[in-house]
Amino acid sequence: MSKEYITPKLPYDYDALEPHIDKATMMIHHDKHHAAYTKKLNAALDGHEDMFEMSAEDILKDISKIPEDIRQAVVNNGGGHVNHALFWQVMGPDGGGQPKGELMSQIEKDFGSFEKFQQEFEEAAATQFGSGWAWLVKDGDNLKVQKTSNQDTPLSQGMKPILALDVWEHAYYLKYQNLRPDYIKAFWHVVNWDKVSELFNN
Ligand code: MN
Repeated sequence: MSKEYITPKLPYDYDALEPHIDKATMMIHHDKHHAAYTKKLNAALDGHEDMFEMSAEDILKDISKIPEDIRQAVVNNGGGHVNHALFWQVMGPDGGGQPKGELMSQIEKDFGSFEKFQQEFEEAAATQFGSGWAWLVKDGDNLKVQKTSNQDTPLSQGMKPILALDVWEHAYYLKYQNLRPDYIKAFWHVVNWDKVSELFNN
């Protein structure tokens, strides 16, 4: 049995997030960018087969345990692998609106209101300089907004990401060109809050 990580399939069609996120972007983003991270992660771990015993998420939770000669490659490509896997899951064709139940209560508790959370998240996504991500994370019992550079994941800082927004130019440039704020606004229409709630509750 060959050991390797696999690029997970999109949980919906390439055009399912139209018009907010276009089909061409989804095809290139998933089939080329995400697949390349997974492939390079597998390549980085060549000769370190024992690492495949762990999930890629678990590897990234303690990067000090990654052999130093491959650490940055695993952080970059393992991060790219797991970050995109989460990103696809927290979007969907029936997305948008607001969260319900315990997740909504916790957002109101930690941010004041859903609108204030949205503002903070948008700010993080818009001000991430260069390539990176904006996140809603569970940090202990609390929710926080975070941003990271490149493919760094909040998992490596002991936090659990439950919502992710890719703000690399490859995520929006075909449709939105330089208008990252428009892409960030459009994202709210495709957020799968049921999935985010599930991640929050687990
Ligand atoms: Mn990406």
